[in-house]
Amino acid sequence: MEKTFAIIKPDAVERNLTGKILERIESEGFRIVAMKRVLLTLADAQGFYYVHKERPFFKDLTAYMCTGPVVLIILEKEGAIKAWRELMGATNPADAEEGTIRKEFAVNLEKNSVHGSDAPETAAFEISYFFSQTEVLS
Ligand code: GDP
Repeated sequence: MEKTFAIIKPDAVERNLTGKILERIESEGFRIVAMKRVLLTLADAQGFYYVHKERPFFKDLTAYMCTGPVVLIILEKEGAIKAWRELMGATNPADAEEGTIRKEFAVNLEKNSVHGSDAPETAAFEISYFFSQTEVLS
């Protein structure tokens, strides 16, 4: 079973969409093996998005991720990384396909409601960034 890391971002939590998004996740056959609702510090967000530190949107993105609580989730499924990216849809909701979470819920390119790891190495880093082994109940 493959694990991936997901975030329900502040724009979606703020609009009370946590339950609807979790419902989509579970109905697509993912198992939620760890989950917590937290308010990130700027240092948390900067460390998490370290790979984007040279991007022009880094400052806006990291500030946005601290504007309200987020839900941090570890998902498990065969082929979870790819399957979760597909269910999320394209980064920019204007390009996202019908039926994807970003198409249905995202506000714009930045406030795009959900995060998902893009490769096995990033999934491993992101999971260990926010969760200890004892918090993961497969
Ligand atoms: P993802 O893997 O689909 O989340 O996309 P990226 O790794 O490319 O970008 C990380 C996050 O940064 C996205 O999910 C958006 O929230 C945000 N983002 C990406 N591109 C832009 C941009 O051009 N402007 C702003 N403000 N935010 C962006």
